[in-house]
Formats: sequence, C-alpha cells, structure tokens
Amino acid sequence: MKILVLGSGGREHALAWNMKQRGNHELFIAPGNPGTAVLGTNINLGVNDFEGIGAFCRETGIEMVVVGPEEPLVKGIRDFFLADDTLKAIPLIGPSQFGAQLEGSKAFAKAFMERHQIPTAAYKEFTEANYEEGIRYLEAHALPVVLKADGLAAGKGVVICQTNEQAVAEFEAMIQEAKFGEASRKVVVEEFLSGIEMSVFLVTDGKEYVVLPQAKDYKRIGEKDSGLNTGGMGAVSPVPFADAGFMQKVTDRIMKPTVDGLSKEGIDYTGFVFIGLIKVGDDPFVIEYNCRMGDPETEVVMPRLKNDIAAVCKAAAEHRLAEITIEEDPRTAVTVMAVSGGYPGDYEKGFKITGLDQPLNDAILFQAGTKEAEGQVVTSGGRVLCATAFGATVTEAVNRSKEILEQIRFDGMYYRRDIGYEFS
Ligand code: ATP
Repeated sequence: MKILVLGSGGREHALAWNMKQRGNHELFIAPGNPGTAVLGTNINLGVNDFEGIGAFCRETGIEMVVVGPEEPLVKGIRDFFLADDTLKAIPLIGPSQFGAQLEGSKAFAKAFMERHQIPTAAYKEFTEANYEEGIRYLEAHALPVVLKADGLAAGKGVVICQTNEQAVAEFEAMIQEAKFGEASRKVVVEEFLSGIEMSVFLVTDGKEYVVLPQAKDYKRIGEKDSGLNTGGMGAVSPVPFADAGFMQKVTDRIMKPTVDGLSKEGIDYTGFVFIGLIKVGDDPFVIEYNCRMGDPETEVVMPRLKNDIAAVCKAAAEHRLAEITIEEDPRTAVTVMAVSGGYPGDYEKGFKITGLDQPLNDAILFQAGTKEAEGQVVTSGGRVLCATAFGATVTEAVNRSKEILEQIRFDGMYYRRDIGYEFS
C-alpha cells in the first residue's frame, strides 16, 4: 500500500518502522525526520496543512493516511477529507472532529464516561458562568484535588493541588487569566485517585475493536519519577502488574463500554483509542482518553506487535476488524528516551549526534527531535531519540537500551537510567 503517515516524532518513526517491517509498504511521512527518511520518503508538509496534504494524496495516489498527533484530528482532518469528493475514498485513520473531543475536551470525555458508566474520578465542570460556585466547591474539596484545563494544553493543563488555597488560585488563573488560553476557560475539577498508571490502546471502527499491546510510560524528568513532567522519558510493555484478572476488568468495565458508547452515539471514529488508566486497589479507572497513539508508548507497542499495523488500520477502515487476530511478541520491550540538556525547560538545539550507526541486532533506535543539517544528524527538539530493546525481563531489556544509548553522544544528552524501576 502507498501510505502517508502524518507527524515527525518517535511515534511516527515507530509506526513507519512497523509498516515497513511487517508489510513492506511504500511510505511517505509528512514531515518526518531523518529516521523515517530511511523507511520512506519525507514530505515537507505540516500536519495541519490540510489543503497541502489533500493535494499530495491526490497527486501521489495515496491509499491510506495514518494520523500520528492529535492536533490535526482535533482540528478536523477527517471531516476535511470526507467533505472533499476527490479525497473521501482514501481511508484516513483518526476520528472525526466530534470524536476527537474524547481527547480535545476533558469535559466531553468525562460526560461520555458518565453516560456509559465507565469508571473514572468523580468530577464537576466550571466556567465563568458558575465561577463563584467553583470557588466555594474548591474551598471545601478533599485534598489533593485535580484541576484540568478542558482543552489541549500540550500536557501541561493538569495541576494537582495540595491545598485549597492553591486550588482556588489555580482555578482563578485558569478561568479569569486564561492561563492555558481558551483551553482553560472551562475547568474540570476532579477527585484525586491514588494508584499506579498504565495505558491500553485500541484500534476501532466505532463498532468493533482490537487491542494492541499495553504499555506504561514514565513522564517525569528525574529518576524515581521526580521533577517536572515531560512528554515521556521511557516506556515498558507489557506491564507486569496487568495480570489476566485485572485486564478482564479493563475489558468489561472500560474497553467494551467505550467502543459500545461510540457505537450507540453514532460517533464517526476510525482510529486509535489510547486509554490512560489508573489501578486503584485492584480496580481500573480511566484518567484520560487520547485519540491517537502515545509517544513513547508507540515505540514499545509497535515493536511488540507482530501484525502489520497498516493492515489492522485498513481492516478498521473497511469494517473488517473481526478478521484480525492481534499477535504480540512475548518478550518485554523497553524504550529509553535521550533528551536535550535542560529539557523540559529551555535547551539548545543543533548538536551533532554520533553513534547512530552502531550495530543494533534486534534493538531499534527511533528518532524524534532530530534533523539533517549539512549531511549530519543534529538535535532539533527536547526529546531527541529513544532506544527500544527486548529482553526476557524488564531489567534485561532496559540494560540493552542503556548499552545502546551509551554509544550515542550529543552535547547535553540526558536519559533516565531507571525506566521500569518498579519491576526490576
Ligand atoms: P498528557 O500529557 O498525558 O496528554 P493530559 O494533559 O491530557 O496528559 P491527564 O492525562 O488527564 O492530562 O493528566 C495528566 C497526569 O495527571 C496523569 O497522567 C496523572 O498522573 C495525573 N492525574 C490526572 N488525573 C488524575 C486524578 N484524577 N487523580 C490522580 N492523578 C491524576
């Protein structure tokens, strides 16, 4: 198949890697990175340039579009394709703008869960209209309390407050001062759940679904999950605590009701559903929905997935998911992300990266914030690249990932040495 993958991160590199390995497809990646350039042709188009993407698909005879990041979905790329007679026949993997609200609006997601009795933290939503009620609610709320900007805020819109005063101040900043722009004009206030997090990933056509390998990511910059939040510093798959009994609860209480909910409400949704879960005692609760794959979770999910993800996506587009059997590599995969010095704060870019040509055996180096400059690969973002390796155990896999990163050099490079530490 001729496939266009939209995006330029490690996630898109991992999607393209799977499609090339398992299906030998002809790949185009927009805009891509030097890692994806080895697997296909990078196209100099932004992910939100719908006109440009549409024109490219027509001219090149693209047979399927797989959307990596959330932004084009929340902005309605699926609706754009469906509204155009020359594009609507091209399967586009990603939900409609309406369906993408599962990620794009936390209030929408919470109300959806409430309608379908899907377990999640108790919540209330507030805007300017019920602002005073919100202040009173927060003054009396049990602690800690979680405040969430309704819209997309690049992973920064969630604040866990330890005192009622902090909660009120944060609430004021979000609603009155638009701390996160329009995204925080509406705020979801949630009860704090205490437990351990993991994620599951579905491919659905809005009626049927298949389940991809599960994963757990590590968001904090520092070891033992300390310091600031990042886009993700590493991931592990499978998740050791997610035994069959727990996963059965996730299926019965969360995955099935989610897809049944989409179906009952007639939501046009062909694509990935990423469900962020928290295990409280022995029970799963939904923390968030995303309408695309996670990054860096994709960098462990795609290597463990023995199926061709393009074939799975095509089956979803053609309502043939019942024909698909997901096959997983039984080994553990771990990915460790190398980031620019200073990230997630300010950092410099443009440093030359060496060690990319080392022998990898069956490990994989996925590129993210990299670009080519004068024939060399240099850093161009906070999260630069990640090494994914396999092992019989988490310890074995993480040690192999670290061996690979030890051979990589760029000025200021940093990575966590303790990914998967709870399971080692
Ligand atoms: P992401 O960066 O993953 O896109 P986001 O901005 O969409 O995140 P959430 O995933 O809803 O926001 O929350 C971010 C993090 O905050 C979660 O991974 C979790 O650690 C924490 N969190 C969110 N809601 C709760 C809750 N109700 N109880 C405890 N922790 C929570």
